Amino acid sequence: MPRSLAREQDILKLPPPKQRPPLTLRRIGIHTSVAGGVENAAERAYRLGCNTFQIFSSSPRQWAPYQLGRPQCEEMKRLREKYDLKPLIIHTNYLINLASTTDLFLKKSVEAFRGEIERALALCAEYLVLHPGSFRGADRERGLMQTAAAIAAAGRGLDLSGGGLTILIENTAGAEHSLGATFEQVAELIHHLKPHVPVAACIDTCHTHVSGYDIVSERGFRHTLGTLDVSIGLGNVRVWHCNDAKAARGSRLDRHQHIGKGMIGLKAFERLLNDPRLMSAAFIAETPIDAPGDDRRNVSTLKKLVRGRQKPRR
Ligand SMILES: [Zn+2]
Ligand SMILES: [Zn+2]
Repeated sequence: MPRSLAREQDILKLPPPKQRPPLTLRRIGIHTSVAGGVENAAERAYRLGCNTFQIFSSSPRQWAPYQLGRPQCEEMKRLREKYDLKPLIIHTNYLINLASTTDLFLKKSVEAFRGEIERALALCAEYLVLHPGSFRGADRERGLMQTAAAIAAAGRGLDLSGGGLTILIENTAGAEHSLGATFEQVAELIHHLKPHVPVAACIDTCHTHVSGYDIVSERGFRHTLGTLDVSIGLGNVRVWHCNDAKAARGSRLDRHQHIGKGMIGLKAFERLLNDPRLMSAAFIAETPIDAPGDDRRNVSTLKKLVRGRQKPRR
């Protein structure tokens, strides 16, 4: 889960960089603050050295929808073109639970998710990331079916394909009752949704590690990517959330750590970023900000791991 932005030192208040920090062969970015308006996130992402970025399009822990103005969307588009920032990824609000077994909560979640889709379309975002949700009092299979039906219902009548928008199902850390802690569950959701909406996956390295997959050892990494390829398909993983983990493998504790400073370590990120099968994916950090500049440092750490430094191929 993206970190709190409370202690962030705002890069917009610093003088702009004289030139763009060097780019790499990969699309690398970070979850970026929308303080002062969504369009500000594009300028921040550029200054942080990114060529892709992720945002919230509404307050992550409030139901009240954020009103997007047309000029804001236009400005966002202009800045993204100017700085070649793509894809734009939107992370859905945390309150949304499309697996909820309470009718009222489910209705609220479907409405809120529809709002997320509408804002993503208005902003011309390529991806909308969703946690599959958490079920209680129902079995997992029913939870998955309900989530798939709720996602399809939320998107009904909206032209996602025409807007170039794909919904990405994110794997989760595996807390009790949560859906999506295995690649197979994510794959099942995608399978059910395919006929209704454009859908693919977002894989979070921290969630993968704490839910029990080995991505740390060389053999484990190879095996885990093999499992991912068989279930979801590596080509369907459009976004990788690059987060190191504070907790041990299998602990199910979702605590993100700075890249290279946690239980996963630099080597796994180096393997990930240089795997030729993942060339066209975007890599987004959702790392904590414990000290000013942590965001820039985590982006730069990821970029340094990429072999070869030139403009990305797309
Ligand atoms: Zn997380
Ligand atoms: Zn994530």
